[in-house]
Amino acid sequence: MQPLDTTIPEPALIVLIGAAGSGKSTWASTWPTTQVLELDNFRAMVSDEAGCQEATDDAVFALQAVLEARLARRKMTVLDATNTEAAVRANLIATARRHGVPTVALVISTPASVCVERQADRTPDRAVPEPVVLAQHAAMLDAFSGLPGEGFDHVVIAENIHRLEALLQRVSDARRADLGWDGGEGLGDLLLVRRYFGPEILPMWRWRDTSQLAGGDRVGEIRLGADRLSSPCAPTSTERATSASRS
Ligand code: GDP
Ligand code: MG
Repeated sequence: MQPLDTTIPEPALIVLIGAAGSGKSTWASTWPTTQVLELDNFRAMVSDEAGCQEATDDAVFALQAVLEARLARRKMTVLDATNTEAAVRANLIATARRHGVPTVALVISTPASVCVERQADRTPDRAVPEPVVLAQHAAMLDAFSGLPGEGFDHVVIAENIHRLEALLQRVSDARRADLGWDGGEGLGDLLLVRRYFGPEILPMWRWRDTSQLAGGDRVGEIRLGADRLSSPCAPTSTERATSASRS
């Protein structure tokens, strides 16, 4: 029996292989988002719907272009799609070889019953029908023993690698940077804005210290072009103390 392979070289093309609901995107999220090419994302980019099967050809075309560009730069790349068809895998291996980047098959062998159960938590447009999930699962099992023969440099079973710490470290680094603990400026006052609205709103946000609108209270303002939303916010404890001592 072969010892378990858990090697993931850097760079590599990591080809996730698993049925819908097996946890591919969850595993993929342990790598930085720029490294992950998710077929559903490309479907959404060409059609506005991640579950739009009719858009698959266009999505694959767009994904292939990004894949080539990344591998030409020898960038770590994670391919998040079911990849249960041999022809799809053969194309990925050939692409990586053209650029001299090693390939890893990362097999996610979650039981079929769990993959099916997980479809119930999805919105109808994203839920994959049970027979399709079962067929993908069977194809994953069928493919498993032949993966080294297909040309993958490493065949790794997801259960055997440790990615949770890598994910937590990255998340924690982002938090530290937000708080300024990494020596940078951090987000300061804007941390609250980010928590409340998310990072998208940060660049459009500013505090206005006194406002006639709010009787002198501090006002948060979100501005985009000619559009503007402002709202008074609760005074800080110092502000309360100052106004109390004034009265
Ligand atoms: P995909 O269709 O293969 O991309 O599957 P997802 O990554 O979207 O996972 C489907 C569901 O299973 C999501 O709700 C995940 O949160 C959940 N899930 C996936 N992997 C795990 C895991 O290892 N542990 C737990 N607790 N939930 C998981
Ligand atoms: Mg997914």
